[in-house]
Amino acid sequence: MQSQIANYKSPIARRLAFLLVGLAVGSAAYWWWPRGGFVLAPRAERNVLLITIDTLRGDALGSYGGRAATPNLDRLAAGGARFTFAHAQTVLTLPSHASILTGRYPYEHGIRDNNGYRLRADEPTLATRLKTLGFATGAFISAFPLDQRYGLQRGFDIYDDRVSEVGRVMRVEVPERRADETVGAAVNWIGQQRDKWFGWVHVFDPHAPYTPPAEWLTRYATDTYAGEVAWTDAALAPLLTRLAAQPRPTLVIVTADHGESLGEHGEMTHGVFAYEATLHVPLIVAEVAPGAASSRGSVIDSPARHVDLLPTVLDAVGAPAATNVAGMSLLPAISGADRADRPSYFEAMMPVLARGWAPLRGVIVNRDKLIDLPIRELYELGADPKELRNVTAAQAARVDVLAKVLATFNLDAPNRPAEESAAARERLRALGYTGGSPVMPRDRYTDADDPKRLIELDKLLHRASEAYLARKPAEAAAIYQDLIKRRPDLADAYRSLAFMLWQAGQRELAITALEMAMKNGVTQRDMQVKLGLYLAETGQSAKAIALLETLPQDDTEALNALGIAKAHAGRPSEARQLFLRAIELDATNGLAHQNIGTLHLQANDLKNAEASLRQALAIDPTLAGAYTSLGVVLAQTGRAADAIDAWKRAVGLDPTDFDGLFNLTLELVKQGRKDEAQQYGGLFLQTAPPSVYGQDIARVRQMLGR
Ligand SMILES: [Zn+2]
Repeated sequence: MQSQIANYKSPIARRLAFLLVGLAVGSAAYWWWPRGGFVLAPRAERNVLLITIDTLRGDALGSYGGRAATPNLDRLAAGGARFTFAHAQTVLTLPSHASILTGRYPYEHGIRDNNGYRLRADEPTLATRLKTLGFATGAFISAFPLDQRYGLQRGFDIYDDRVSEVGRVMRVEVPERRADETVGAAVNWIGQQRDKWFGWVHVFDPHAPYTPPAEWLTRYATDTYAGEVAWTDAALAPLLTRLAAQPRPTLVIVTADHGESLGEHGEMTHGVFAYEATLHVPLIVAEVAPGAASSRGSVIDSPARHVDLLPTVLDAVGAPAATNVAGMSLLPAISGADRADRPSYFEAMMPVLARGWAPLRGVIVNRDKLIDLPIRELYELGADPKELRNVTAAQAARVDVLAKVLATFNLDAPNRPAEESAAARERLRALGYTGGSPVMPRDRYTDADDPKRLIELDKLLHRASEAYLARKPAEAAAIYQDLIKRRPDLADAYRSLAFMLWQAGQRELAITALEMAMKNGVTQRDMQVKLGLYLAETGQSAKAIALLETLPQDDTEALNALGIAKAHAGRPSEARQLFLRAIELDATNGLAHQNIGTLHLQANDLKNAEASLRQALAIDPTLAGAYTSLGVVLAQTGRAADAIDAWKRAVGLDPTDFDGLFNLTLELVKQGRKDEAQQYGGLFLQTAPPSVYGQDIARVRQMLGR
């Protein structure tokens, strides 16, 4: 049997492919034969394990020809079905996982970006469906974009997303959990199951920054991404080993949510483009049975898509097929019974939602890939898998055919995201995702809005954030200023520049950056709120109030900011009314409770302050500021040890909470806990901006004898 690539190159096959596309897409192409002997028959008594490896390129595993040594996943692939042509529907963590877990396209399940979307409560998922079928269900998550607030937790008995417990003090927090910790939690849970179960294990390590544990860092010093991949494979070994000891066979599906560009086509990471570097994903479907030698594996060249995974699992456990899903079971493709093409829709909406660039959509049909942007691209993936030759000019007729296929999908403007809370935005930003208010989509986009023309800006944004993380703020600031000159509507450049300047204590310059954004027509709400807060905190409360009063008064974040400005202006009762209004609009608004607590604290009403602050933390245990204020209450009421714990938590949640860090150092000195005082005081001296904390720095230095 010839491979499909050889077939595809022959002129007759090409003409056939073309005709099939033109006549009836996906109905009758038949060149894909499974190579090997893996079979998977439907069977109700079977566990299901879904492993999603974040940011794993389709060509990164050893079995796919990658550089990383991945013996554990290679062994799994060698005994199962390894798909060579599997694709994601989109290129970001949350929307991709939503497609995997619902079997539906992004415009159907409604999640278009990591920022501002929630899965609807009536959307059935793999977990809700398997739960109904009597499976115990557990999810083990390694990064914030899949936090339970985004809605994928429905149907899981346990949704373990404790990603913020990684040691945080002394370094900038990255809200992720290492693969071995996540795997450990999953192995524990599997060990407790008696009946059949569905487990989902999400590991995040190949995501930037590429910093595997020392052993892998040394071994892959020149390719730290491959080091992360090899380390992830090693970390998954205990999970795969555990399956062999299960009383039932376990269906194992391994895939990635998206890949990583690593500089291809000018993109550093993922999210802007949808080239194969990020759209092509690995896919292994295997079964691990107790005591059974693994069957001979198969290599499957038939196309597979993320939306096919839910139907595949339901098929494999003998459940009735789901209605209202976009995908189809892959079992017939594995057995060789179904060799039809599966047109694959894809999109990348982050550039339009976060930056106002043109939306990217496309479709893959019979190994041809159309990327529909202002400057269209057509690639023949069979012959040109790296997408180096855009053949739109030479193949105009085929562009038309694929455009017609694309038009059968929903191409409306993306459904609008909601505003994330300020805390959630910061955590997304720590992972390198845009954490801002959404941009309004426009009716028309020109060549100048094509991400291909703008990818240099994306590269500069990455370079600036790397410079910032490497503690080179001047270098980062220069890059942001250059970006603003090139594209004065690039909200993220102003946002990051202002944040960085503020952290560095250059508060007036931070304000100037945000005012310049407004002058240039960038009017995203989160930036206006921030400007209001900056003005209030630098003694310009009248100006802050005037600005914040122009914002919609049904926005809890604007209400909180306006309340803070009024408190700074010496108008606490008006401030309190605003915080109460925010609570009225949203009873779960922890920040409003925190602000009321701080008002009580300022009025020296310690009892009510403590009650409000504890309520804030009961609602949202990630509010660093609430811990800082609570620490003050505790210290003033003679509970020094508890105060120290509260401030440690504050600093753990937000290493730039300099007030908390200062209080903590002072109290540790007072209590004679010298080593800890040196540790936290040292951090304060290293990181607090002298222009704001000059006197406090002098005081700490003196107390620590430095
Ligand atoms: Zn991801």
